[in-house]
Amino acid sequence: MKCPYCGNVETRVIDSRYSEDMEAIRRRRECLNCGKRFTTYERVEIAPIIVIKKNGEKQEFIPEKVKKGMLKACEKRPISEEDIDIAVQEIERELRNRDSIEVPSVEIGEMVMEKLRKMDKVAYIRFASVYREFADVETFEKEIRNLIKEKYGGI
Ligand SMILES: [Zn+2]
Repeated sequence: MKCPYCGNVETRVIDSRYSEDMEAIRRRRECLNCGKRFTTYERVEIAPIIVIKKNGEKQEFIPEKVKKGMLKACEKRPISEEDIDIAVQEIERELRNRDSIEVPSVEIGEMVMEKLRKMDKVAYIRFASVYREFADVETFEKEIRNLIKEKYGGI
């Protein structure tokens, strides 16, 4: 790390600590040439996840947006905000572990539905009905029937 005062590259770390949010390491350095001190920060660099919308537009993945949609679907349902946060984190982690950093928005929607399906059937139906834009009552009924079948093993 080049000294900002004299340009010398040899420095000594005199103190190392985490930043308050634990997302960076703050290092206090001393230049071995001029003796002046300066601070450097070290943080993880991660590429953003890119969401490809239905119309081909690209946007950065924003976990808050996913959370908002899930919160809305879970309104007045016995699901805590913490549960939703965990689900959103899992989705983000799953996306990060993919080979590609670009993901179609449809797939994210499917992932959200999969989570909600396990968490709360009502929230799932709410989300799916908005998300999949159930073309007609028939498709909607079919989806509900599938859910009931899953739960009771057939009607
Ligand atoms: Zn220096």
